[in-house]
Amino acid sequence: MRRKLAAGNWKMNGTGAALGELQALSQLHPSPRIDILLCPPATLLHRAGQALESAGISVGGQDCHAQASGAHTGDISAEMLKDAGAEYVILGHSERRQDHGESDDAVRAKARAAMDNGLTAIICVGESLEQREAANTLDIIGGQLSGSIPDQSTGENLVVAYEPIWAIGTGKVPTLDQIGDVHDFIRARLERRFGEGVGRSVRLLYGGSVKPSNAAEIFGVSNVDGALVGGASLKAADFSGIITALESA
Ligand code: PEP
Repeated sequence: MRRKLAAGNWKMNGTGAALGELQALSQLHPSPRIDILLCPPATLLHRAGQALESAGISVGGQDCHAQASGAHTGDISAEMLKDAGAEYVILGHSERRQDHGESDDAVRAKARAAMDNGLTAIICVGESLEQREAANTLDIIGGQLSGSIPDQSTGENLVVAYEPIWAIGTGKVPTLDQIGDVHDFIRARLERRFGEGVGRSVRLLYGGSVKPSNAAEIFGVSNVDGALVGGASLKAADFSGIITALESA
């Protein structure tokens, strides 16, 4: 059985003033049957970890460098994230692929570094609207999966997040059939590459405009093991609604 996971991605949002929101999250006490993760900006990682520890909520980074250390101004290594309390790191988010020109090779190198340092890599894949309209979705996702996921992946150190770019922060959500088709495809690809045991143990998250009002139906789709949540994770009340839907999925 795969453990369900609800992961919040605060992106570049939050200063010390957001500690109240963390305080509210720390009161949630989600069911121990599911995993909850918050990925705040790196500046809040340590404080968030301390605030959320008693609630059993993990923290993670939003990116890491592929190298262990060195002359890389502004970057953060996987070891540094781990040292600050992270258990997970989001890699290859479409905003990083777009804003920083991250290729599949770059994402795979970062994922290797994350796994080597005991972090679980949440590798994001997803198509643009043009690619979907041109009926290229599965080709694009297939290429991103083969290029971004390292050979050393297991059900413990890898999570895959399907995030259609056109659904992120837009309020637009694919149909449940569209989500199911892509998740079934990702599962089949993972089983083909890693064998049934590993392929079936990797958790698959859906991300893109998940909110309390649509979470339950999305969690009912086959091979959806949880969600990667952007905007709705910023408010404890909204994130809590998504967590409640996951607990009953
Ligand atoms: C995201 O950026 O990973 C995301 C899913 O954002 P939102 O939930 O705001 O669409």
